[in-house]
Amino acid sequence: MKHCKHCGAQLADDDTYCYFCGANLEEEVEKVEAKTFDSYGDNYNDNYAHYHNQTNTLAVVGFVMAFLSPIVGLVLSILGLNRARVMKGVGRKMAVAGIIVAIANFVITFAIYFIYAAYLYAEEGGA
Ligand SMILES: [Zn+2]
Repeated sequence: MKHCKHCGAQLADDDTYCYFCGANLEEEVEKVEAKTFDSYGDNYNDNYAHYHNQTNTLAVVGFVMAFLSPIVGLVLSILGLNRARVMKGVGRKMAVAGIIVAIANFVITFAIYFIYAAYLYAEEGGA
């Protein structure tokens, strides 16, 4: 059992709202998370200033990794894009660029291997 922080009423442990006074019993942290996931809703202005001065590290790392390892870069860039949505658009362009570079890198790498394999096959066939 727990007690309502606002009116002191006795409540079940899994209650999220007080039946007596209607107070929200969720932890403060959970409230903040719920707010950030409300991407472009009413809380946009509240959170924009907060995130505007931060760096979307996932998007930056994803962009860099896109050049080195297409699969890792693609995964991190997609995560970075998701993070950009939470961060009110911070790092969105970087994440999109990371996804494009990762796909391009993957296609180019695959094409080089394919051409090389075709070359080896042609060499073998010709000999
Ligand atoms: Zn209450």
